[in-house]
Amino acid sequence: ICPKELTIKTFSRIKEDNKKLNVFTALTEDHAIRKAGESAMRINDGKKLPLDGILVSVKDNFCTKSVPTTCASKMLKNFTPTYNATVYDKLEKAGAILVGKTNLDEFGMGSGCIDSIFGSSKNFWSEDYNNPRICGGSSGGSATSVAAGFCMASLGSDTGGSTRNPASYCGVVGFKPTYGLLSRHGLIPLVNSMDVPGILTKSVDDCLQIFNTIAGPDKLDSTTIKKPFNPIELLKQIDFKNLKVGIPREYNCEGLTSEVLEAWTKMADFLEENGAQIHEISMPYTTSSIFVYSILNQCEVSSNFSRYDGIEYGHRADDETSTENLYAKTRAEGFNNVVKNRIFAGNYFLLRKNYDKYFLKALKVRRLVSDDFSKAFKNVDLLLTPTTLSDAPLLNEFVKNHNRDQCAVQDFCTCPANMAGIPSITIPVKLSSNKLPISLQLMGPNFSEQLLFSTAKFIE
Ligand code: GLN
Repeated sequence: ICPKELTIKTFSRIKEDNKKLNVFTALTEDHAIRKAGESAMRINDGKKLPLDGILVSVKDNFCTKSVPTTCASKMLKNFTPTYNATVYDKLEKAGAILVGKTNLDEFGMGSGCIDSIFGSSKNFWSEDYNNPRICGGSSGGSATSVAAGFCMASLGSDTGGSTRNPASYCGVVGFKPTYGLLSRHGLIPLVNSMDVPGILTKSVDDCLQIFNTIAGPDKLDSTTIKKPFNPIELLKQIDFKNLKVGIPREYNCEGLTSEVLEAWTKMADFLEENGAQIHEISMPYTTSSIFVYSILNQCEVSSNFSRYDGIEYGHRADDETSTENLYAKTRAEGFNNVVKNRIFAGNYFLLRKNYDKYFLKALKVRRLVSDDFSKAFKNVDLLLTPTTLSDAPLLNEFVKNHNRDQCAVQDFCTCPANMAGIPSITIPVKLSSNKLPISLQLMGPNFSEQLLFSTAKFIE
């Protein structure tokens, strides 16, 4: 099938199915058809680029030139960047075709894809679209766009789990790389010290192909690893005799459903049957991670979000009484309550009298969480854990329980990896009794992507 035909057909499906799923904040049909034409021409001329004809979607917190980038917030509702985020730019240069920008929780704060000015996205696997399941978040639109077959791959972002959580609920592969391997240039910052671009695809092979296309140093992001990136190849064979897989007992936590526990145990057994050594280990700071995460997240948010003042870009309130009043009114009107709460909390933690007690302490405990991983990786090569504690919750119930505790539950298994900056991948492994995906997560030391992808491929 020629790229143009494929793109036109996909758009007619997207327009129909998206009515119930609400995946996109913007569709880029004209752009996609034009790009597909260019792909077709290159293919005909024997000048095919690696991703020619491949449809992709991009979370709406990555800057895309001439395409609105809203972060699903009133604050950036009318913001159209003049440049591309590096990771998207690399996709485009490799021939990939953007179908649209995907929905998220405002600025990436959330785990349900419910707090968006565009309304909530729905899980593709919902038994009943009138009483749907959440698709997870915050990259819920990205995960759903892949699950529904609207595109081959989607770029998400992962600060505390935002790529892996929706991937888990939507039954797709979700990858968070080692911090610094993918450029954050053009990814609108949430928490700079934890944010990484993430990749969502249907298969591990696809995920690796996208990763190999977009990884590497970027002079526009000083936190990227300076060493040139060598594309990763899957191991031909995993040396199971020498593979040690750790099962950290703290991840068997309150709220873990018996079905997820069973899937986890079975996968450990399966790896053992193939010759791997399974080690039950302890990572005592796992439970502290959520507290550290919420303090540091809010501190960085309160500092990062001072850029939204209504002056340079974004929403501007109609108040000319003073600069202070303009800032205040702009933010009061532009942000939802989740964002406002985090700004307030962050400012509180950073007050001179609280700085040592909260911010500095959290940084110290973050180091302990990270040390837990360093110690574990002295004895094991990879860790196997759940990604989410259950299958996708019903949207109604999720909205009812919308509070900070919910964040703690949703991010429990994912945010420790962000504290340490290590890579992690989630893979769907079975269906629950509700016929919804259940997924497991593999984590490895920094730069262990080759083993991580190869093992993920084996259990896929
Ligand atoms: N649920 C987390 C939060 O709200 C995850 C966010 C993310 O990874 N972007 O902070």
